[in-house]
Amino acid sequence: MSGKRKQREKDLTSRYLSGDMDEDALQTQQRFSARSANFQQRKMERTALLRAAEEEAAADIGSLPTGLIVQVYSLFYDVECEGIIRLCVLRKTLSKLLESPLVVGDAVRFRETGGRDETGRPEAVIEQVLPRRTILTRADSFKAIEQQPIVANADQVLIVVSLHEPDVKWGLVDRMITAARSGGLSPAVCLNKLDLARPNQLGIDPDLELAGRVLEHYRSLGISTLSTSVPANKGLDDLRAILSGRTTVVAGHSGVGKSTLLNAIQPTLNLRTGVISGYTGKGRHTTTSARRYPLEAGGYVIDTPGVKLFGLWGVTRENLIRFFPDVADDSAPQWRRESYERIMQSLPE
Ligand code: GDP
Repeated sequence: MSGKRKQREKDLTSRYLSGDMDEDALQTQQRFSARSANFQQRKMERTALLRAAEEEAAADIGSLPTGLIVQVYSLFYDVECEGIIRLCVLRKTLSKLLESPLVVGDAVRFRETGGRDETGRPEAVIEQVLPRRTILTRADSFKAIEQQPIVANADQVLIVVSLHEPDVKWGLVDRMITAARSGGLSPAVCLNKLDLARPNQLGIDPDLELAGRVLEHYRSLGISTLSTSVPANKGLDDLRAILSGRTTVVAGHSGVGKSTLLNAIQPTLNLRTGVISGYTGKGRHTTTSARRYPLEAGGYVIDTPGVKLFGLWGVTRENLIRFFPDVADDSAPQWRRESYERIMQSLPE
């Protein structure tokens, strides 16, 4: 250390000790050469600018356009707004704040980046997620610590069952009804394959008779019902009517005729082959099996292939009775009481 520098430091120390100088000023003087002071100044200015930009971004969020997530990939989202689909990423700071992953049907505010992907689609950043009106979750989500949503903001669940091939299990329908209502969605039940009725010597199919009674009971609980057959061209107008203008999650076991029914009312849906279409570039494989399709008559259907059951969102042993008003007022038939008991047993204590 040069004698001159030593002297200067000594001067500084004595000035500091005498209270002539505050600590910050001392450190600043010690650390900054003319060049590094300049660098530090630029860095401070840059931080201030960034902060200002962030504040400005937060301030204008309310004026950003709103779109709906129509497809989720592992790192990207397709967001539709006024018929245009943008490829979006989630702002990193936002992804840390979210309590559960974004899903098909989530409403988001986005900011265009000005860029386009290799297929020419505009790119954007999701800046805000709007509160969900309704939610459908995975069946095991009551065991999980985190929410596992599949679809947000749909209006109703169309529970499709078939009279035969496979035979309908009404206990499962009761569970799906509870799942729909627990997430704030209206359930509707569609009994398909009516043409497969098997009349006995008396000319009646006992399963069809039972189904008639079950559907009547559902209607008494405010649940819409319909009976359909594609080959017999039955109930298809009812199906169109119930779907039109609404966003409907179509649920039901494989083989009950969901795709056949939807293709019958709108052949362009082509559900079997249309599940995952288009570009499958790196990082864009689907992570959710939900997909939203527009209907020509207005409204949307959402397909969730691979999801057999939905979760009972927020349902506990204590509040399950809310979803069984007929059990509560003792007007429930035996099979409804059994469904109630079975669901109760499946809930954690
Ligand atoms: P999904 O798995 O629920 O989508 O069921 P599909 O639409 O693939 O139908 C399963 C099978 O049931 C196919 O062989 C269809 O032709 C048949 N199917 C669908 N609807 C009807 C119907 O109303 N009556 C009869 N008899 N068969 C049907």
